[in-house]
Amino acid sequence: MSDVRIDDLPVRDELRGKSPYGAPQLDVPVRLNTNENPYPLPEPLVERIAERVREAARNLNRYPDRDAVQLRTGLAEYLTRTTGHPLGTGNVWAANGSNEVIQQLLQTFGGPGRTALGFEPSYSMHALIARGTGTGWIPGPRGEDFTIDVDAARRAIAEHRPDVVFVTTPNNPTGNAVPPETVRALYEAAQAAKPSMVIVDEAYVEFSHGRSLLPLIEGRPHLVISRTMSKAFGAAGLRLGYLAADPAVVDAVQLVRLPYHLSAITQATALAALEHTDTLLGYVQQLKAERDRLVAELRATGYEVTESDANFVQFGRFADAHEAWRKILDRGVLVRDNGVPGWLRVTAGTPEENDAFLDAVRELKKEL
Ligand code: PMP
Repeated sequence: MSDVRIDDLPVRDELRGKSPYGAPQLDVPVRLNTNENPYPLPEPLVERIAERVREAARNLNRYPDRDAVQLRTGLAEYLTRTTGHPLGTGNVWAANGSNEVIQQLLQTFGGPGRTALGFEPSYSMHALIARGTGTGWIPGPRGEDFTIDVDAARRAIAEHRPDVVFVTTPNNPTGNAVPPETVRALYEAAQAAKPSMVIVDEAYVEFSHGRSLLPLIEGRPHLVISRTMSKAFGAAGLRLGYLAADPAVVDAVQLVRLPYHLSAITQATALAALEHTDTLLGYVQQLKAERDRLVAELRATGYEVTESDANFVQFGRFADAHEAWRKILDRGVLVRDNGVPGWLRVTAGTPEENDAFLDAVRELKKEL
């Protein structure tokens, strides 16, 4: 074993003393901590993936399609069909998870000497990817109820003039969606201040009561919608994220992407998943119903719950959220402590998993 530590290496100053991102991957009976879809892929899709991967394997001596044209065309068709907003291949870009999409966007529009602003609490990787790309991070304000107050947000944008503004809707970890008029107002504020890029992270939008904000990209060349196959598609292990924007944004991102970043296996698997969107999205209805049940039952048990448009629910309040997290874990259920004081987050799982969770928090309530 080596006793050299990270800080003994000549790492960049901003990485010193930091720890890597990661929810605990613990071996417990019920894991409701990373907002995954609890349902395994349906068998016909598994078969189709095997077929497509076998075909792709025959050509693995060659680099994959660098521009992933077939896949981007399929994603554009999916988005057009589900949002009613016509998109072409040139509007869509894909990468290894939406984390990589966001990294490429910050490499393109952020970087040393530039800043990004996000309304906290939100998806903590936005700030971490900013750090990794040398982009300064500015925490923006959210109200007590975790909504974005337009006036306070406008003031923060005008004051800091960030190069990139993040809006996560539905927001993680709080679950609430951001109304389209707020995004329009933030876009205007960001254009008046800089102009800057506005990245709308819609990782959970398929679970929303409302619609995707994707049609807003029309006439707004600085607006980017980021999406993923990790949640609604139930394919977190695939690592496939994508964005929709003006074709100029897609061209710009190609300046920083690594050549052949999306493997032939990934492209083949994602294409197979797109052939089965209707089955996959069927699970979304079930998960939404389970999400609504969690909200109702948590409230009935006396917990506070933030309004959720996602496949997870933020609940509280706890005098000591971490202690509550530990007590729920002791009952065999892993939820997430995102560090929001007083609150925890639970992902909607299968009905049985949710029952186990509800039993655990009902028992916990008696102890509080
Ligand atoms: N955005 C948000 C808001 C998320 O919660 C997540 C996953 N937790 C991601 C993006 C990244 O997802 P992936 O890289 O799997 O696409």
